[in-house]
Amino acid sequence: MNNRSAPAYKTAKKLNNILKQHLHLNNYYTVNSSNELAQNLTRLTINDNHRLITLDIKDLYVNIPIDETIRTTRAQLLKHNDQQTTNQICNILGTILRQNYFAFQDNCYQPDKGVAMGSPLSGTMAEVFLQQLENLHIKPLLDSKCIVFYSRYVDDAIIIYDVTRTNPETIIRQANSMHSNIQTSPTLEADNRISFLDILIIRKPQQIEIDIFRKPTTTDTTINYLSNHPMEQKLAAYRYYIERMLRLPLSHSRQLREWQTIRHIATSNNFPITLLHKLKRQIQHKITKPPTTKNTENNTKWATFTFSSPYIRKITNLFRHTNIKIGYKSSNTVAQLTKPASDRNIPPHNKSGIYCLTCKTCNLSYVGQTSRNLRTRFQEHIRYIKTNNPQSAYAQHILHNQHEYGTIAETMTLLQATKTESMLLPFEQFHIQSLHQAGKLIHEQSHNDPNPLFQLTFSHPPPTRPKTEQ
Ligand SMILES: [Zn+2]
Repeated sequence: MNNRSAPAYKTAKKLNNILKQHLHLNNYYTVNSSNELAQNLTRLTINDNHRLITLDIKDLYVNIPIDETIRTTRAQLLKHNDQQTTNQICNILGTILRQNYFAFQDNCYQPDKGVAMGSPLSGTMAEVFLQQLENLHIKPLLDSKCIVFYSRYVDDAIIIYDVTRTNPETIIRQANSMHSNIQTSPTLEADNRISFLDILIIRKPQQIEIDIFRKPTTTDTTINYLSNHPMEQKLAAYRYYIERMLRLPLSHSRQLREWQTIRHIATSNNFPITLLHKLKRQIQHKITKPPTTKNTENNTKWATFTFSSPYIRKITNLFRHTNIKIGYKSSNTVAQLTKPASDRNIPPHNKSGIYCLTCKTCNLSYVGQTSRNLRTRFQEHIRYIKTNNPQSAYAQHILHNQHEYGTIAETMTLLQATKTESMLLPFEQFHIQSLHQAGKLIHEQSHNDPNPLFQLTFSHPPPTRPKTEQ
């Protein structure tokens, strides 16, 4: 289920920002990353009686009790805000949270508990709900020294407990009795170690050590260096690996071993090792230099370009010193390669998009667009000609010059199929300019001043596209 298209999505996003400002959640027991947790753990002093256990809360989002959590939110809001603000926020919150429904096999369902997956508010609601429970149930355990450390990342919690004061069975029972909606699945340490998120937590006699945890199912595959993807995307995985290696409080030998692993992954994906070294130096520099003052990126807009070939940079570089940031998407995806070939069986004259009509006498062409199919549009052009009606530039051309028009098979060509209404005009303009430059456009057709972006693509023709692309 995806909430992105839900009617209240944007309102929820806005409300979430307002909520965060007014709530003042204390976040005593939460961490935002495995790195933050690792830093906290390695600073601890422990002893022989301490043991590790992790608890995974089952299906957290679908089990959040809505009414109860709104009541908790209200109480929390009232600590820092007046009655009116609190009422306003809670009313909108209630309205949005109750808009949780989904369709399954043509039936509509509304669950009686839980927040919508993907709703911007879900995370905040989960925090309100869990932090309330933690204040009531975890704090006493910490105060009584039964547990000496508790930390949670979303729905995963790690606990260090004292074997002289409690035992795993008691902790699990206590965790599961915090709330009737909450069930946890525990994992006990084995061989003095336990994995949590992407780190391995190792219990030594007096302190905790950290290593990087890779699931046994992890493969060494990243985007291949030779693949037609933007460099940013190809390096993203390595950027992440290296930064994690450098930021985590790893021992020197563990860091070296991780660097070996990263180099091994890089080599098996055709990455030059020199590139990897360069990247490491860059990241090292970024980590050690003092944080730069954040530029206010309020005006920044994002635009997406399809990375059909590296030539696309000729265009995207033009935006370098503007407040438009460029993201790339690839058409070179598994989904594209495995897409059923249904579209290819449709004859071009039954598709919609950009077409040209070529005069049989002078061989010049008219460029047009249609959101219906080409066949229908062709018949309209012919009707204009037959009724002596110069409605289209093509009809005008045929009538004024007394040139000959032909059949659809002889004269109409699909230049670009598209079903996206908003792409019709830009594509049409592109093809008009292209034909005009080649001296193949009928004189009756008006054209705009040359668009410099189109111009660039004429001087750098894209490489031959795979047949699966439209
Ligand atoms: Zn002609």
